[in-house]
Amino acid sequence: MTTPDQERWQKVKERLRAEVGEDVFQSWFKSMELDGLDGIATRLSVPTRFLKSWIQSHYIDRVLACWQQEMPEIQKVEVTVRSAVIRTVPPKVKAPEVSDTVRDGRMQRLDIGDLRAAYAPVSSGHDALGGSPLDLRLTFESFVVGRSNTLAHAAAKQVAVARRGEPVMFNPLYIHSGVGLGKTHLLQAITWAGNQGAERKVLYLTAEKFMYGFVSALRTQTALAFKEALRGIDVLVIDDLQFLQGKATQGEFCHTLNALIDAGRQVVIAADRAPTDLESLDDRVRSRLAGGLVVEMGGLGEELRLEILKTRVSAARQYHPAFDVPPPVLAYIAKSVTHNGRDLEGAVNRLLAHNKLTGQPVTMEMAEREVRDLIRPQEPKRVKIEDIQRIVARQYNVSRADLLSSRRTANVVRPRQVAMYLAKTLTLRSLPEIGRRFGGRDHTTVLHAVRKIEGLVGNDAMLADEIEVLKRQLQE
Ligand code: ADP
Ligand code: MG
Repeated sequence: MTTPDQERWQKVKERLRAEVGEDVFQSWFKSMELDGLDGIATRLSVPTRFLKSWIQSHYIDRVLACWQQEMPEIQKVEVTVRSAVIRTVPPKVKAPEVSDTVRDGRMQRLDIGDLRAAYAPVSSGHDALGGSPLDLRLTFESFVVGRSNTLAHAAAKQVAVARRGEPVMFNPLYIHSGVGLGKTHLLQAITWAGNQGAERKVLYLTAEKFMYGFVSALRTQTALAFKEALRGIDVLVIDDLQFLQGKATQGEFCHTLNALIDAGRQVVIAADRAPTDLESLDDRVRSRLAGGLVVEMGGLGEELRLEILKTRVSAARQYHPAFDVPPPVLAYIAKSVTHNGRDLEGAVNRLLAHNKLTGQPVTMEMAEREVRDLIRPQEPKRVKIEDIQRIVARQYNVSRADLLSSRRTANVVRPRQVAMYLAKTLTLRSLPEIGRRFGGRDHTTVLHAVRKIEGLVGNDAMLADEIEVLKRQLQE
């Protein structure tokens, strides 16, 4: 194998990582290798049959597209299972570590995605359960409370300090927000705090890890042990639930959720959208999720951003005492880097890197240069279907119930079509989902409405204006 091929493969991997995100990449592609590249075909290998079939059924088009961006001539991606290596790892290698960490009830650093663990014969249920890795810095101490997250923080705190056997106040606790607004931070804080006394077992899992754990348990015929182990947890914390895919996994998730809640165990969930908007989950799960406490976290206000920056800087100063950011620079960043907590963290890291590498103090000029590309135009607001229905109903003087009803009189048909059209154009919801949210209509009805309005706006200037006004109200 020539090195240029490997270099291309590295680039393809980077593209893949950027597209699917770090979590997904780590779960599925970490162990993928390039075995051959000839003309129009490329051969990749993975260590297990399970990985092979999962990648083939879920990601093969993505992988091909990434290759084609590097090498347009590639037509085919073949995935094979490579033998040896992994299988020769003595299965016991991981085992003592696994049961030790489980026994003292602390958070484990081993992840279920670890292929060796997947290969080792799993001897007891607990072995099947490893948490996702935790970040040491994401604790309650470093979490700054502001208007947009007061409720979520209070609820998380409540969950973290509860004791085994106490009645659970709300279950599940479901936190949702846009990206980078502190969900993972809060969830990991709950996990750290909850495991401190070692009285309770708190398990933090990303939805991807849950999925992977369950599917590999199925494959090694230890699914029962996996389920039992999950049900022995006091607090189950699941991050990024929107990534939970696959009928079998969702079915399993549903059982686990029901079993834990019915047994009075706490479940905490984070996702990037409200339970009702989790399209791929079935109705029972959705309603179960919505039955606890659902809290949305809003964007970080300027004050909160400033506080987060200060916290980050003082954390950095523990290791780099010479690092100092003058208050006007902090104020400038808080004002201009508005997007999310990740960018704030990025800004501080850049100042620190610059400061360390050049030895120059942090100045306003340097900050302006370093964070320029983190200053983004305001993201368009997430539009919700309920808002569309509410605003359209108001505009046309009908009720929201009319829009959802089966009435077919002209005064409700048109507004209903407009609302469906807006739902299709302003949200990422699918046609079947929109149909469901409009009183359980078929996706063809939605499609018809969308086409109808598209056709009309071309000729009807008044309708076009009405729709413009509605869009503006929804997006402001
Ligand atoms: P999410 O999971 O919602 O996408 P994260 O929890 O990963 O977001 O947060 C992104 C970054 O912003 C992290 O570095 C996190 O520590 C920081 N952050 C977000 N909100 C807060 C907050 N209220 N206080 C302190 N840091 C925060
Ligand atoms: Mg997160």
